Amino acid sequence: MNHTESRQGLPSPIVDFHTHLFPDKLSDAIRRQFVVDYGWGVLHDLYWRQTVEYLREHGAGPIIYSNYAHKKGVARSLNDWNITILKELDDVYCFAAYHPDDDDGLAMAADLLSHPRIIGFKLQLLVQRFFPDDERLFPLYELVMEKKKRLLLHVGTGPVGNEFVGIGPFKRLLARYPDLPANIAHMGGLEYDQFGALLDDHPALYMDTAFSFLAGAGLMFNLGNDFLEAHKDRILYGSDFPNVILPRGEEIDSLLSRNLSQDFYDAVFRDNGLALIQKLVS
Ligand SMILES: [Zn+2]
Repeated sequence: MNHTESRQGLPSPIVDFHTHLFPDKLSDAIRRQFVVDYGWGVLHDLYWRQTVEYLREHGAGPIIYSNYAHKKGVARSLNDWNITILKELDDVYCFAAYHPDDDDGLAMAADLLSHPRIIGFKLQLLVQRFFPDDERLFPLYELVMEKKKRLLLHVGTGPVGNEFVGIGPFKRLLARYPDLPANIAHMGGLEYDQFGALLDDHPALYMDTAFSFLAGAGLMFNLGNDFLEAHKDRILYGSDFPNVILPRGEEIDSLLSRNLSQDFYDAVFRDNGLALIQKLVS
C-alpha cells in the first residue's frame, strides 16, 4: 500500500530535517519520560526501522535524525549504534550524540565527523542541562566549524524552560561564535521573535519547523507570514517524528493552509534541505 501524501503545494520529495531514531530500549524510556515530564503520550509508537518506513511512505526523501546523550558515558554506545544503522539506511543522515564530560569525547567526535553521513552533533540543552556557552563545548564547536559540519540545538524554552535554554545563553554563545553553523530547533520557540531576529546577523543559522505549527499543541509559532517569507531560505521543514503527540500531517496542513508562496513551500520542504545536505556530505 502506498500512503504517499500528495497535497497541493507540497513538493516531492520532502526533506525532513528533524526526526529521532533511538535504539528500541531507549525509545521506550524516552516515551515513559515524556509522560512523566510533560504528560504527553507519544502518538506514533514506532521503533527506528518503522519510523524510517513510515516517513518514506509519506513522501520523505532525505531524512535527518538525531539522538543525544542524556548523561555522561552513553554517547559512545549511541554513536556505535548510529554507525550501524547508517549502513542499513540509504539517504539518512545523523546529528550524533555528544557529552562534554566524556573523557574521550572530542576524539570520538573527530572520528565521527569523518563519516560522510554524520553531519554534526545534536545538543539538547534542556535535557542535558548545561549552557550552550559552557566552555567545555568550545572545542566541539571549533571542530564542527573546522570540518564544515553543523549542530542541531534544542536551545529554546519550549515545551518548558530551565536556566540552560532561552535567548540569553544562546546570545552569549553567538557573541563568541557569530558564524556558528547551527540549526535552531522548533523555530526557537517559545521566544520566536528573539530567535528570529538573530537570522539576519548570523548567516550560518537555520531554524527548523518541528513542533511549531501544530494547531492543537498550544505551541503555535506567533510571527506572521511576512517573517516566514522573508526568511524562507533559512527555514527547514522538520517533523520531530516519531516523538509527536499529534498527527504529523497536521503540521504540514497547517503550513500549507497559511497560503505562503510556492517558493516558500519548495524551499522549506525540499530545496533548503537538499542544498544543506549536499554541502555537509561533500
Ligand atoms: Zn526533536
